[in-house]
Amino acid sequence: MPNQDQMMAVGQSCSEYTPLQRGLFAQRTNPEDVSCENCIHWKGETEMCELDIYLEQLLNLDQT
Ligand code: SF4
Repeated sequence: MPNQDQMMAVGQSCSEYTPLQRGLFAQRTNPEDVSCENCIHWKGETEMCELDIYLEQLLNLDQT
């Protein structure tokens, strides 16, 4: 089960991160708020990333 810290860490390092809502919301989004949770590719805690790269990204983080 992904936790919020991990989703933030992955979102911030993920090259495929795309904010769910562009425009007003995006302009108010702080860099610290970047997280898989608000990425357009995120399909929820069960399906997770539709690109299937969440776990890969997470493992890459662990190696640093
Ligand atoms: S949901 Fe997927 S594409 Fe989006 S930031 Fe997370 S790992 Fe990257």
